[in-house]
Amino acid sequence: MKDEFSFIRSIQPKGHHQPTVVAGIGDDAALYDSEEGFHEIATVDTLVEDMHFTKETMKPFHIGYKALAVNVSDIAAMGGRPTYYLVSISIPKSGSWSEEELKEIYRGMTELADEYGMDLIGGDTNGTNDKLVVSVTVMGRVEKGVRLLRSNAKPGDVVFVTGPVGSSAAGLHYLLEGHRCPDIFASAHQMPRPQVGAGRVLAKARERVALNDISDGLASEANEIAEASGVTMEIDWLSIPHELQGEGEDRIEKWTLYGGEDFQLIGTAGEETFAKLERTFHEKGLSLIRVGRVIKGKAEVYLVKENERSVLHKRGYNHFNKGD
Ligand code: ADP
Ligand code: MG
Repeated sequence: MKDEFSFIRSIQPKGHHQPTVVAGIGDDAALYDSEEGFHEIATVDTLVEDMHFTKETMKPFHIGYKALAVNVSDIAAMGGRPTYYLVSISIPKSGSWSEEELKEIYRGMTELADEYGMDLIGGDTNGTNDKLVVSVTVMGRVEKGVRLLRSNAKPGDVVFVTGPVGSSAAGLHYLLEGHRCPDIFASAHQMPRPQVGAGRVLAKARERVALNDISDGLASEANEIAEASGVTMEIDWLSIPHELQGEGEDRIEKWTLYGGEDFQLIGTAGEETFAKLERTFHEKGLSLIRVGRVIKGKAEVYLVKENERSVLHKRGYNHFNKGD
């Protein structure tokens, strides 16, 4: 890269979507107004080369898109709308990443940001000895009083998810194998869709809902809700939605339960609330799928399969450390 300053200029947005931005990129820090009647939401996630992505399985555009998407998903899991993002990028001194590739990373982020009217308002540019590191911070907003917390689950609740799981893990598998990867799996892995629309419906319902996004796999995220709420959850194997028809049972089980990175939402709500939510989701063309129930007991998750009940442990197989 020629110099950092021309790079920053090249990725600086021309204008802003959000009217609350006072000063974005170009000063010591960004200045923005909050909006009355809203909570601010903040989240950060980092993607490390060869840990969370490789050049073999992701184009620079995808890396940018996904780095932003994983954060937007956390905003969705709080029921919010994303507003701003900041990017810290650490670039290998070896020159293994060209300026063109780095700009493509930003183009991938812009693609998703424009969809939600998000603004890039700052960041940091650094060097590393070895791998590329992209850390993205996202801010968002949700109406005051909305708390879609993991600790909200109660015995008697329905457990739901907002869409198919396991496709991203299937994508990673086929991309790493070097086989032709079916498009739906490749895009699930490279350009996951955060479920902001679903999160917004859940926030606007103004009901008690526990919510979590599925970044580390259904098993792991269900356990997080069970732990935070101090309840037992039962997941019905046959009700888990997936797009893996034709794959072997072992793979379907591994990918749907432990795959992760699908960024669907998993949550719980009382029966009556769930019935109402189902109608609203349906009207909006969104899906809400019942996958189990919350019962009284220790903080544990069970998988119910052919009338057998087995403990679902909190393990994922992310970060290229497949550990099956
Ligand atoms: P400072 O030394 O005050 O931190 P910098 O030179 O690091 O200033 O950054 C100048 C401006 O460019 C700041 O507004 C900063 O937020 C922004 N910026 C720097 N690097 C990036 C980046 N990689 N992506 C987006 N914005 C960046
Ligand atoms: Mg700086």
